[in-house]
Amino acid sequence: MPGSGMSPCAACKLLRRRCARDCVFAPYFPPDEPQKFANVHKVFGASNVNKMLQDLPIHSRGDAVSSMVYEADARVRDPVYGCVGAISSLQQQVAQLQTQLAVANAEIVCIRMHQAALVSNAHHMKDGMVTNNSPPLTPPSPELNHHMKPMIGGLEPLELTEPLWS
Ligand SMILES: [Zn+2]
Repeated sequence: MPGSGMSPCAACKLLRRRCARDCVFAPYFPPDEPQKFANVHKVFGASNVNKMLQDLPIHSRGDAVSSMVYEADARVRDPVYGCVGAISSLQQQVAQLQTQLAVANAEIVCIRMHQAALVSNAHHMKDGMVTNNSPPLTPPSPELNHHMKPMIGGLEPLELTEPLWS
């Protein structure tokens, strides 16, 4: 508990100072999570964190601490890109998935046109007159979408070029 003198918060313990009753760190850096403050201190510096928390209303401090902990952990893992590395990697993944979706949609259109041509030919052959005329394109039917789904689901899963978090 803060101010009890029994167990100082993780910040005061690392800074080797007395944990005051109104310690600004104590609610967010419990003694049982020392690494949480260690990274934040390493990246931002304790006095900056102190100042940032003091400048915020109390109800916003928990979110600010979560954000700083996330950013500090990312910076420690990836000293060059920090959390931007994760953001870039996810943006790249979105772009790859959009490409994959466009390819799948194009395949659906091709298969649908092919099927329509086959049906048309079969119909004309039955009538004794084979033509290459295809029926006009119509929007994909729900039934066709249903048949196409397993094909889309069977596409190779995306693999990240490098792991986000180890
Ligand atoms: Zn403290």
